[in-house]
Amino acid sequence: NRQILLAERPKGWPDENTFQMKESPRPSPQEGEVLVRTVYLSVDPYMRGRMNDAKSYVAPFELNQVLTGGVVGQVEESKHPDFQAGDLVTGMMGWQDYSVLKGEELRQVDTRLAPPTTALGVLGMPGLTAYFGLLEIGQPKQGETVVVSGAAGAVGSVVGQIAKLKGCRVVGIAGSPEKIRFLKEELGFDAVINYKTDDVKQALKEACPDGVDIYFDNVGGEISDHVVRRINKYARIVICGQIALYNLDKPDEGPRVQTNLLINSALMKGFIVSDYQDRFKEGLVQLAEWVAQGKIQYRENIVEGLENAPDAFLGLFKGENLGKQLVKVSDI
Ligand code: NDP
Repeated sequence: NRQILLAERPKGWPDENTFQMKESPRPSPQEGEVLVRTVYLSVDPYMRGRMNDAKSYVAPFELNQVLTGGVVGQVEESKHPDFQAGDLVTGMMGWQDYSVLKGEELRQVDTRLAPPTTALGVLGMPGLTAYFGLLEIGQPKQGETVVVSGAAGAVGSVVGQIAKLKGCRVVGIAGSPEKIRFLKEELGFDAVINYKTDDVKQALKEACPDGVDIYFDNVGGEISDHVVRRINKYARIVICGQIALYNLDKPDEGPRVQTNLLINSALMKGFIVSDYQDRFKEGLVQLAEWVAQGKIQYRENIVEGLENAPDAFLGLFKGENLGKQLVKVSDI
């Protein structure tokens, strides 16, 4: 059973020294437990926060222990009445070939609706984050302008498409020509900004002639400072992620935006997707319907091999992924 451990806590950017691969015996399930073979592993930006020894909404990873994240796996052996060998399941598991979990920690993956990978993306945590963050905090209304940063990623691409379904003008900010083309031509965003090559301030002015009513913030930093300068009265700013800040070794003192919130009676609110846990079912039903109807499209970037999970994770911070970043560990 190959496992990837947290070898040291990164200061600033993680690198190959952050991770270590180890062999350990394959675990076996006790009564009420299930042995799962990892098929797809999700790498997510929030995991960077768990690598620090700091208080947050999830406990830090332990040093020299296996990293954990969202997994879709296949049941190899079950000692729980709800699962049988061959079932596809999802849950929080280790970055390893095999995991043993209690049956209660697993959920069946319904492949009648969509391919199993979607349980980690559009029909999983990132899709739900987009759904509840935009609809509950953003409260989009027909004709409003929505700006989303990290727009071509797992969360951002769904945010923009839901905003389009709600009749909004959607402006996406992302970091490569391929992503820009995807957002504009395939997802039908109204305007797109490449923050690496465009003058973001000027581009926002042109892309948002009527100002910004909702800003869905996945990145923070300078991009967000520019967007907040263009907000309208009663704007809603949804703080979903701050990926531009996750690898900084000291806090970033950006321009202060509070005056802009004050004079526009604007709302800025952070959230964690699990705040909406008791409504996940409702969100998944709606997202699955939109996907089935072709109203929401999704992309996945799949890297092969457990040994490549650290690189796939680091790739998130370099923008190597278009859509949801996954690692394929074994075949179904
Ligand atoms: P993505 O699929 O969007 O992958 C991360 C993307 O972020 C990269 O592809 C890259 O795209 C962009 N990025 C990386 N570094 C920077 C930077 N310095 N400045 C601007 N953009 C950058 O990841 P997710 O969709 O999974 O997550 C998006 C955000 O949402 C993250 O901040 C994450 O932490 C947050 N999140 C929050 C949740 C919550 O409950 N609040 C739940 C899930 C995610 P590009 O090429 O455009 O730079």
